[in-house]
Amino acid sequence: MSSPSTENSIARAAALINDADALVIAAGAGFGVDSGLPDFRGTEGFWKAYPALAKSGIAFQDIASPDAFHAHAQQAWGFYGHRLALYRRTRPHAGFSLLRKWGGMKRHGYSVFTSNVDGQFEVAGFDPMRLHECHGSIHHLQCLQPCTEAVWPADGVDPVVDEARCELTSPLPRCPHCGGIARPNILMFGDWSWISKRQDLQETRQQRWLAQVRQPVVIELGAGTAIATVRHFAHRIVRQHNGRLVRINPREPQVADPRDVGLAMGALDALGAIDAALESMQS
Ligand SMILES: [Zn+2]
Repeated sequence: MSSPSTENSIARAAALINDADALVIAAGAGFGVDSGLPDFRGTEGFWKAYPALAKSGIAFQDIASPDAFHAHAQQAWGFYGHRLALYRRTRPHAGFSLLRKWGGMKRHGYSVFTSNVDGQFEVAGFDPMRLHECHGSIHHLQCLQPCTEAVWPADGVDPVVDEARCELTSPLPRCPHCGGIARPNILMFGDWSWISKRQDLQETRQQRWLAQVRQPVVIELGAGTAIATVRHFAHRIVRQHNGRLVRINPREPQVADPRDVGLAMGALDALGAIDAALESMQS
């Protein structure tokens, strides 16, 4: 059973969502945990997910970098190929459809901002025209060099990975323009060659949508302070667009403004509890 103060916070979150004219969903790595995805929390968390890289002392920042593709493409693709396959077979948890349902009830609908590159919002049936994937998507590729600004879907790529060694054993994905190595169209660490045109277009669409909303509520999910891109976005919406914030985070739920709500819960549990509160408000 949840405590009276948690009950109260859930009721207040439901009221903020009920009163808003638009739903802004801001999701970080913690949002995917309830679908069974790893969130790479700290080096230990990352190494637990990739024991082969732990053995060589390779941290997330080392492998998630264009340098890794230049130095050892089979290993970098071992890491990203494994993730691509994992995200393709993962089914989004029920919290996604609750968000989509609430968004459908709003005058201006919803818009998504996510640092996740897993493509799970699209799998969950969200409108691709309402997504802003600020770090790109693993389901798209670009040239490693890059020889052109081209970005193309990863649909034809079916990586086979030797997980014990974290190495790609199938042929390396190639750039159709120069024949060089292709890489995921994701913003990596120390990355000066990420082609951001998909992201730029998504951002422009989102800004246009935000210009018409008057009372948005931001539901921030699983976004930590370590890489704070999603939190910064959420705060900007609150400040610049007269918004309110519902922060769902089991470890860092604190909010600065007493009109906002912080819930120290996992995403799926919190969204389920808020949905029940919304249903009882409407009946
Ligand atoms: Zn190329």
